[in-house]
Amino acid sequence: MPEVGDGEFLVQLEEFSMDPAMRGWMNESPAAAAAVELGSAMRATGAGTVVESRNSTFPVNTQVVGMFNAQTYAVSDGTGVTVVDPALGSASMYLGLLGLSGLTAYFGLIVHANPRAGDTVVVSAAAGAVGSIVGQLAALSGCHTIGIAGGSEKCARVTAELGYDLAVDYKSGDFAADLAAACATGIDLYFDNVGGEVLNAALGNIAVNGHVVLCGGISQYNATTRPPGPSNYMNLLVRRARMSGVVVSDYSSEYQRARVQLAQWVKQGKLVAPQTRVSGGLAEFPSVFAMLFSGENFGKLLLALD
Ligand code: NAP
Repeated sequence: MPEVGDGEFLVQLEEFSMDPAMRGWMNESPAAAAAVELGSAMRATGAGTVVESRNSTFPVNTQVVGMFNAQTYAVSDGTGVTVVDPALGSASMYLGLLGLSGLTAYFGLIVHANPRAGDTVVVSAAAGAVGSIVGQLAALSGCHTIGIAGGSEKCARVTAELGYDLAVDYKSGDFAADLAAACATGIDLYFDNVGGEVLNAALGNIAVNGHVVLCGGISQYNATTRPPGPSNYMNLLVRRARMSGVVVSDYSSEYQRARVQLAQWVKQGKLVAPQTRVSGGLAEFPSVFAMLFSGENFGKLLLALD
C-alpha cells in the first residue's frame, strides 16, 4: 500500500472505464499519448472512494473519478480528479455519459459539428459509448439519424432503445449498398468512430457541403500496417465536403457546463445512457477490454470490481 503524503489522498477503486484509446497506448509509438511502459499499471480511468486523506479538498468518503490506472488502490494529489456530484449522476455515469464518452459526443456533435435540423446524420459504432449518445443528441437537434452497428440484433436495439430513425448492419455482407439505400439524399454529417471500409462507404454517400467528423478509427487499432487511404476521398472535392478531427480534451474547460446539460436531459427523459457493466477482478481487465473489439458492449463498457 503506498504512503499518503502531505496534500495527497488514497482512493479505493471500484469501477473502470474501458476505452478503445487504451489500445493505442499499448503501441510503442502511440498516436495521441505516451506509451504505457511495460511492467507499469495500465493507464485507465477509474471511479472510487477516498479512504484516507491528507488533502482537505478530498476528504474521506468522497467519491472521485480520475486516471487512477488499473489497480485496486491509488494515491493522488487531486490533479485531474473530478468529485462525483450525486445530483448529476452516479460514479458509473461519471465514467460514461458524464465522462469522456458523453463529453466526446456532446462536444463532437453539438459544438464541433453543429448540425442543422433536418440534416441526415450517420454515426458509426452507433451502439457504443460515444455513438449511443451522438445519435440521441442529433435527434434532439432535429436531425434524421442513421446508426451503423454490427449484427441485426444490435441494429434492432439501436432503433428501439437509442431512437435512431434507421440502423444499418455493417456485417450484413452488402453494407455499401445497404448504406446507400438508407441515405438516398446523401449524408450531411458522418460522425466516424471506426474508420476503414465503413468510413469509405460513408464518403461514397457524402452530400454536397457534407461534413465528416473523425472521432475515432477502432477498425484500425489492431492493424500492424498503415491502412490504405479511403478510395472514395475524391467525393470530398466533387461534393464540396470536408473532413475534420475532434479531440475531446480541447474542451476540458467546458466539461462541467456539458455535464450539467447532459444530466438535465437524462432527468427530463430526453436521453438514455446505456451501460454494459461487467463484474470481476482486475484479472478480468484484459478480457473485458477485448469486448470493445468483438462488439460485445451496448453503450458504455465498465468493469466493476467485485
Ligand atoms: P464503443 O463504441 O463503446 O466500443 C467500440 C465499438 O466499436 C464496439 O462496440 C463495436 O461495435 C465497434 N467495433 C469494434 N471493432 C470494429 C471494427 N473492426 N469495425 C467496425 N466497428 C467496430 O467505444 P467508445 O469508447 O464509444 O469509442 C468509440 C470511438 O470513439 C473509438 O474509436 C474511440 O477511440 C473514439 N473516441 C475518441 C475521442 C476523441 O476525443 N476523439 C474520445 C473518446 C473516444 P459493433 O458491435 O457495432 O461492431
